[in-house]
Order: sequence, then C-alpha cells, then structure tokens
Amino acid sequence: MIAEKLSDTVEPSVEEIACPLCERTEYEAWTVENGYSAVKCSHCGLIYVNPRPAADLIATGVETGVHVEVDHERDAVAYRIGKKVKRYQRIFGALFADVWARDTPISWLDVGAGYGEILESVMALAPEGSRIAGVEPMKPKADDARSRGLPVTNGYLADIDEKFEYLSVVNVFSHIPDFHSFMQEARQVLVPGGELFVETGNIGDLDSVKQVPTDLDLPDHLVFAGEQNMIDYLAEAGFSIVAIERGRKDGFVNFLKNFARKAMGRNVTFAVPYTSPYRTLRIRAKLAS
Ligand SMILES: [Zn+2]
Repeated sequence: MIAEKLSDTVEPSVEEIACPLCERTEYEAWTVENGYSAVKCSHCGLIYVNPRPAADLIATGVETGVHVEVDHERDAVAYRIGKKVKRYQRIFGALFADVWARDTPISWLDVGAGYGEILESVMALAPEGSRIAGVEPMKPKADDARSRGLPVTNGYLADIDEKFEYLSVVNVFSHIPDFHSFMQEARQVLVPGGELFVETGNIGDLDSVKQVPTDLDLPDHLVFAGEQNMIDYLAEAGFSIVAIERGRKDGFVNFLKNFARKAMGRNVTFAVPYTSPYRTLRIRAKLAS
C-alpha cells in the first residue's frame, strides 16, 4: 500500500530513452560519471546519457545553472572570458572570410550566447549596419550581457521570431536533449540559404572515455556526437556542409596548461602532445535556398 502511495506522488526523476539521433534502443555501456551512465548507440555510434534526467529537470538545470544530484564544484564558467572574444574573432575571421570580404551588412544570431563573447567577436568582424543578437536560457548570463549593451534575449531558440542569415551554436550541442527538434527551430529562424555554425567535440569518434581530455560533466552534457553523427543531423534537417575544421587540443601549449589544471584539482589526462584523437569540430553548413 505504501509503495503504491509513493508511486502516485513521487515523479520519476530519470527516464530511459531511445538514441536521440537514430531512435534505436540497442546500446553498449560506455562510461559512468556523477552517478549517470553514458551509453553508445549500437547503430549510429552516438553517445548519450541513458537513463537521463526528466525533461523538467534538464530545463531547470539549463535555466538556473543548478543541477539536481550533482555537486557542482566545477560549474559552468560564471564570468565573461575576454580571451574567448579574440579566439572566435580568429576562428570566424578565417572560416567566414568570404562573408566579411563582401562587406555587406549581415544578420547573425548566437544560440546559448552566455555572457555574449561570441556576439562581441562577430560584431568586431561584421560590417556596419549588421544585426547581431543572442539568445541565452540562463537569466544571470543574459542579464550580464545586456548590462554591457549586448542584445541577448533570455530564453530559447524557439522564442525567437525574427529571421537571421547566420546562426552560431558554440558548445551547446551536448546540452540539447533533442537536436532534431533544435534543427527544425534553426530552420524556422534562418532565411532560405542561411548558414549554421556548430562547434562541438568528436567524443562519439573516440574508442574510449580515456581519450576525452576533460570530464564529461554528466548529466549537464547529455549527448556526444562523432563527425558523421553531426553530418547526419545536419543533412536530415536540409543542411549541406560548407567546411569542417578539426581543432586539436593536444598541442604543446595545452600540455603545459594541463599542469595548471591539475593543480586546480581538475581531472586531466596527460598524454604525449599530438597523439590524441580528440578534435573540436567546427562545422559551417548551409540551408538549401
Ligand atoms: Zn543511434
């Protein structure tokens, strides 16, 4: 009787799911972190948290930065990073060189804009008269960006009703429970022939969790793709690939930085420089016009 009563009142906090990419249900165990399991889809190779926190818990975590059941000592970075502006100015400067060369005003929306660093980098590159905006679900971050004059809406991509020519999605992929739906929202916001920039790691391509350079941060991060998984997600939503960059994190400078990270108590993997298969994927894709 008591058990019945409990099941009436207690909401389940986790749910078993099918593969978020191919919707099959066969998988192999991959790793466990923070009490959550990440599994690898036996069909498409996508790695995803399963069972995962219920949808309302995921939303609460995304909007407040506070995650149930996980001690968040190493929380999402809680301040603006100036260096990030310069880094993305270099990345976008090269990857979208043809866009800047046209010297025509553009419209660009950054999704998961955080403190607005990506916006700042695009603003530094785009011609005068361009419309650059951001959307960020975590209120303190959106407020901080706005306090510095950056047009960042507090909310989700689905809340945006303007149209844009470019959409950037930087280190957001792993937080999104259903990237298929996200891509449909992206199509709604983009003009025909509009472009998408996605940056995420290639963890789905790695043989073992030992090859991941840092913690996975489960269940804050829910999904990890390989390069082909990303291409499949994009193709299914009607995008074709313009360019893919595969950035290394295992250069000599990073090798030295790992000593500092270790000293700060982070879980880092020391490896001989230039031997890691881990890559940061930077994908530029175009919607059919
Ligand atoms: Zn799959």
